[in-house]
Amino acid sequence: MLVDLGVRTAPVYDPATGEVQRELVLAGPADVDAAVAKAKRAFEHWSDVSVTRRARVMFKFRALLDQHTDELARIISSEHGKTLDDARGEVVRGMEVVEYACGIAELTKGEFSDQVSTGVDLHSIRQPLGVCAGITPFNFPIMVPLWMHPIAIATGNTFVLKPSERDPSVSDRIAELYAEAGLPDGVFNVVHGDKVAVDALLDHPDVAAISFVGSTPIARSIHQRASENGKRVQALGGAKNHAVVLPDADLEFAADQLIAAGYGSAGQRCMAISVAVAVGDVADQLVETLREKALAIRVGPGLDPDSEMGPVITAAARDRIVGYIDRTDATVVVDGRGHEGDGFFVGPTLLDDVTPEMEAYTDEIFGPVLAVLRVETLDAAIDLINANPFANGTAIFTASGQAARTFQRRVQVGMIGVNVPIPVPMAFYSFGGWKDSLFGDHHIHGPEGVRFYTRAKAITTRWPDAPERAHLNFPTAR
Ligand code: NAD
Repeated sequence: MLVDLGVRTAPVYDPATGEVQRELVLAGPADVDAAVAKAKRAFEHWSDVSVTRRARVMFKFRALLDQHTDELARIISSEHGKTLDDARGEVVRGMEVVEYACGIAELTKGEFSDQVSTGVDLHSIRQPLGVCAGITPFNFPIMVPLWMHPIAIATGNTFVLKPSERDPSVSDRIAELYAEAGLPDGVFNVVHGDKVAVDALLDHPDVAAISFVGSTPIARSIHQRASENGKRVQALGGAKNHAVVLPDADLEFAADQLIAAGYGSAGQRCMAISVAVAVGDVADQLVETLREKALAIRVGPGLDPDSEMGPVITAAARDRIVGYIDRTDATVVVDGRGHEGDGFFVGPTLLDDVTPEMEAYTDEIFGPVLAVLRVETLDAAIDLINANPFANGTAIFTASGQAARTFQRRVQVGMIGVNVPIPVPMAFYSFGGWKDSLFGDHHIHGPEGVRFYTRAKAITTRWPDAPERAHLNFPTAR
């Protein structure tokens, strides 16, 4: 039974000024039901459209994303707060998934085995699931949804996107661009909302699969509820990404990379480096170099071309991050508190002498706070990382191939960088962490994305030219 909750809204802020720029109407169960029904009707036709025509829509959609990159980046920056260049980067990385989806004919080719028994052939095909839903976080309002819907749609599914209610507008523009690319009505649908809309999707009998990206507690609960409801689900969670700096690393280079990965997008990336693990006698010099570089970062509105780092997403996020700095027993080397004004700003913050018990280490702060831990050996660094429940990304900075090889083989993390701080795989690989950073069996986009949004059939065929007698025995190959 659908319950009428009345019209509920949520403010969408300009994080640089603190002003409300839009009141977003939040969907109730009836709105979700209508979107799913529309997607279900569209599936009947879309799943029957030839793979070549589906690919052509993707080619057009890709061209439109390219043509509108600046416009899309501006929408993102105005609601998220990240700098324009950073937002453009997000559009491009998302567009790469569309490029991958353009090759869907090649990616979904089946297998064929001739003469598996005398006069018998065997082949396999992959078919779409039906209505798939995506639930996405605020920090990449265009890229993370693009990890999902191009693959889902190219493989013949229809899609309902529930983007973050904090920066929703770019998803409406994506729906328009899909329509312009020739995607039939109902194949891609956007439902704005919060937990109410999410729960309605998780419980809806006509939703076949859920892709979720967000924080770990929500990812865990989404995985459980969707699984209980018999859905296929991939739920990507939060992170605490360590970068190990060995004494033989080029310190200037490593510090530069850590600054970019720690403070880019105000630390609000699931692949942000939030922990620097200084090994041996590198620590003092590393901290001093990081300090100088962190102090030089220009903080300001994302739409100002001079800004290198924008605000965080909400006043609540700012206050939460500042709370961590207020309470810490670590040494505050660079203090990001005290930014005046109504915008949601926190400056780059560098903490030294952090220990594994401190909340600044155990919690995902999701802000511009870089914590430095000091250990004596590479083994101790690996043990530290492997003891952490998050396992999204990690990086090592070293001049030693041997050390890098040991690290990449022993560290229990889904994505690893060697002298690369943000090792987000390209779209033709799959993206995903381990442990509490991903619930479910499939990583997202790339080959695992294609598998996630399709299911296999194996078909055994015989065209007998003369009647053959059947036996009651279980058939074996002849
Ligand atoms: P979030 O978990 O608060 O929200 C994500 C989505 O879930 C949003 O659409 C939101 O509306 C919905 N949601 C929120 N609370 C819910 C609830 N109780 N029940 C059902 N749905 C709910 O995450 P966020 O703050 O928007 O994004 C930041 C988080 O996302 C960070 O933890 C970050 O590490 C993570 N993230 C992970 C990846 C990854 O690839 N692993 C990528 C990007 C972001």
